Amino acid sequence: MVLKTQAPKQSSYDVVIVGGAIFGSSAAWFLSDDKDFDGSVLIIERDPSYEFASTSRTNSCMRQQFTAEINVKCSQFAADFVKNLRQYMGNDERVPELEIQNFGYMYLADNEEFADVLIESQAMQVAAGAGTRVLTPEQIKQEYPFYNLDDIILGSINTVDEGYWDGITVFDWWRKSARERGIEYCQNEVVAMTKSANGERVESVTLKSGEIISCGQVVNASGPRAVLTSRMAGIEIPVEPRKRFTWIFQAEQPLDRPLPLTIDPSGVHVRQEGTEYYLAGGHADYDPAPDYDDFEMDHDLWQDHIWPVMASRIPQFEAIKVTNEWAGHYAYNTFDHNAILGPHDEVKNFIFLNGFSGHGLQQSPAMGRGIAEIIAHGEYRTLDLSDFGYDRIVKNKEFIEKAVI
Ligand SMILES: Cc1cc2nc3c(=O)[nH]c(=O)nc-3n(C[C@H](O)[C@H](O)[C@H](O)COP(=O)(O)OP(=O)(O)OC[C@H]3O[C@@H](n4cnc5c(N)ncnc54)[C@H](O)[C@@H]3O)c2cc1C
Repeated sequence: MVLKTQAPKQSSYDVVIVGGAIFGSSAAWFLSDDKDFDGSVLIIERDPSYEFASTSRTNSCMRQQFTAEINVKCSQFAADFVKNLRQYMGNDERVPELEIQNFGYMYLADNEEFADVLIESQAMQVAAGAGTRVLTPEQIKQEYPFYNLDDIILGSINTVDEGYWDGITVFDWWRKSARERGIEYCQNEVVAMTKSANGERVESVTLKSGEIISCGQVVNASGPRAVLTSRMAGIEIPVEPRKRFTWIFQAEQPLDRPLPLTIDPSGVHVRQEGTEYYLAGGHADYDPAPDYDDFEMDHDLWQDHIWPVMASRIPQFEAIKVTNEWAGHYAYNTFDHNAILGPHDEVKNFIFLNGFSGHGLQQSPAMGRGIAEIIAHGEYRTLDLSDFGYDRIVKNKEFIEKAVI
């Protein structure tokens, strides 16, 4: 595919953001919303159709069932932001009122070790204000009689601010509003960067069409391609693309109540999709980094693994019809599965917004706001996101998130 290029209007910007999908747009919008920031912002996006961006291939759910407390707090802000989108957007009447479909996530444990993780996490989540409940198989069966729970010893669910939300509408409004407030989006690709003589600053980015654009700060919001962008500044990050598959299907005998986003112990997950459909997701056991342009489906995976697992967990799913399917890429943090956020320790004006693995969409309000605070004020002012800092990678000190789907 040959992508078009455009020239930016200026040759110099205070902030250049590489990638204009949910994270680039979130950071830009929060900057535009900061009364103390009046700098110029350019977003360079190689493909404004966003056809292959993770943002377009997402499953768009949010949850508070994480093992790291700060991730619970990020999702709580996401819930607040989504439910009050219009107010956050200055009571703009054009902005729709959004709701969260609170079917919840149902984690199922088939062994003591994972059951202990769920019990421990539930205590932390509840202390942080979440509505997580730990359930015995009998209690699960009472609320959701359609599950086969023969091998299950414990479950965990939260139906408050946990489920599906319309991430694409939020993304659309961030872009629209950011543009209206003077943020410039430009179709092009960043192909190189030049650094200052002492190596402490990125001075300019070079575009595919040849222009060289000076920058005060540069933000890496390039999703699964994050490592390609950081290498332009001589920086390595442990982020790789990972292929994740989604199938939409109808059941011959639909369930009589909404299906929580059920995480089977096998890793297969399935949930309600609207009123008539269901959505299943998963990946192959062999899970290498694919080519950046490889979005081919794995039909055997569905036939031999995903569907049998699902039909065994929910026997009503033995007779189903697939109506849509797609592959997308996670920007997978191979080091500790958590985001990598904030400035680099040596190249101080190079800012990460990377490695969100499978839970980035719901982190886009909190993390975009955090990066805007770093750019405008040099510090986090609302949620302290410093645990996600790059220095943990230099120090080889993991900040593990165990609940990665
Ligand atoms: C199948 C699937 C299901 C998911 N489900 C969920 C979910 O239920 N809940 C959740 O919270 N998260 C989910 N996620 C994760 C979430 O979608 C991502 O974390 C999020 O969309 C990442 O956004 P991003 O802006 O970082 O990356 P992307 O959306 O990939 O955007 C990066 C952009 O950068 C551009 N770019 C890259 N390099 C350059 C360059 N050199 N120059 C210019 N532009 C460049 C690309 O063209 C792209 O548009 C899911 C992801 C997938 C794939």
